[in-house]
Amino acid sequence: MANKIWLSSPHMGGNELKYIHEAFDENWVAPLGPNVNGFEGDLENFLHTNFKVAALSAGTAALHLALIQCGVQNGDEVICQSMTFSASANPIAYLGATPVFIDSEKDTWNMCPIALEEAIQDRIAKGKTPKAIIVVHLYGMPAKMQEITAIAQKYNIPLIEDAAEALGSNYKGKACGNFGKFGILSFNGNKIITTSGGGALVCQSQEDKDQTVFLSTQARDNAPHYQHSQIGYNYRMSNISAGIGRGQMEVLEDRVDARRKMHNFYLNLFQEIDGVEVFHEPNDDYYSNHWLSAITIDPKVSGKTREDLRLALLEDDIESRPLWKPMHLQPVFAQAPYYGKKVAEELFENGLCLPSGSNLSDADRARIAQKIQEVFKK
Ligand SMILES: *Cc1c(COP(=O)(O)O)cnc(C)c1O
Repeated sequence: MANKIWLSSPHMGGNELKYIHEAFDENWVAPLGPNVNGFEGDLENFLHTNFKVAALSAGTAALHLALIQCGVQNGDEVICQSMTFSASANPIAYLGATPVFIDSEKDTWNMCPIALEEAIQDRIAKGKTPKAIIVVHLYGMPAKMQEITAIAQKYNIPLIEDAAEALGSNYKGKACGNFGKFGILSFNGNKIITTSGGGALVCQSQEDKDQTVFLSTQARDNAPHYQHSQIGYNYRMSNISAGIGRGQMEVLEDRVDARRKMHNFYLNLFQEIDGVEVFHEPNDDYYSNHWLSAITIDPKVSGKTREDLRLALLEDDIESRPLWKPMHLQPVFAQAPYYGKKVAEELFENGLCLPSGSNLSDADRARIAQKIQEVFKK
C-alpha cells in the first residue's frame, strides 16, 4: 500500500546531526550549551528584532512563563482567543486563573477586535480588569494586529502573542512573535520547524529574558548552595534539541516557501470546485507561512460535508483534521465566559485542514488531488 500522507510531519534539513555531534563531542548534553545560545541567536536574527529569545522545553512552557511574568495569579482573568489549540489556554488554568474566550472574525479566523473590546469593557464593569490578552496566529495567518495592539494599549493590558504556528509569518512587514510584551514559539514535531519538542519565549528586554531563564532553571538564587526565594520550573531547552533547531533554522525559509506552494496547490485544485473556499490572506498586509492549508465547505453548494471529505481521504490513508474546536465549546472550559457570536463555531463545523507538509512529493499531491476531485465529482 502507498505511504500515509500526514497533515504535517517533521522534515529534517541535513545539518541537524552535525550540531548534535558537536554537542556529544564537547559533552554539552544538558539543558544549556552552545547550541542553545546559537539557536536563540538564529531566532533573533530571523525575527529581525532587538528582542531577546529564550529557548524552552515547549511552547506551552513559554506561555506559562509569559503569564507568570504578566503577574497572573489565582483568581485572575485572562483573555484568550477561543479558536485555538488547547495549549493556548491551559497555562491560564495552571495558574488558577479563568480564561475569558473571544470569538474569531471571518477574515483571519483569529481574535475579533470588536468582541475583544466588548469583553474588556464588560469584565471591567463586572469588577475585574483582565491581566493579559492571548492572541493567536492560527495556521500561520497573522491576526488583526493593528486593531488588537491598539485595544491592548488603550486598556493597558499586556498582549501575549501565541505565534506557535506562525514562525515565518509577518504582518505589515513585521515578523509574528514581535508584537506583544511576550511572543511564544513552538518547535513541536508537527510545526513548521521542529526540535522534536521545544519552544521559545520572545522577550522585549534582556531583563525579561534573564527572568525567563531564571524561572525556567528552577529559580536558583545566587549562592554556592541551592537557595530559592521563589517557585521555579524545569523548562529550559536541552542542548541536543537546540542542535536540531540550529539545523532546522538553516532551512526555515525553504520550509515557508514549500508550505506556501502547498497553499497554491490547493488554490488551483479548488478553483473548479464550487462551494469550497481555501483559507487565504485578506490583503497584502498579511503574509502567512501557511503552516496548514485549510478550507471551508458549504454543503448546500458542494453537496458534501467536511466529514464526507475527511472520511474519503482517510480511506486512502490521507490525514486531514477538522479546524480546531473552539475552547468555549470544550467540556473542560464549559464554565468560562465567552464573548462573540458563532464565527468560530461555524468554522469548526465546516472547516478542514489538509496535508500541508513541506516534504510532500509530486506523487503525494497527485494522490491528494485525485481523491478530492473524486469526492466532489457531480
Ligand atoms: C503547538 C501549539 C502550542 C503549544 O506548543 P508546544 O510546543 O506543543 O507546547 C501552543 N499554541 C498553539 C496555537 C499551538 O499550535
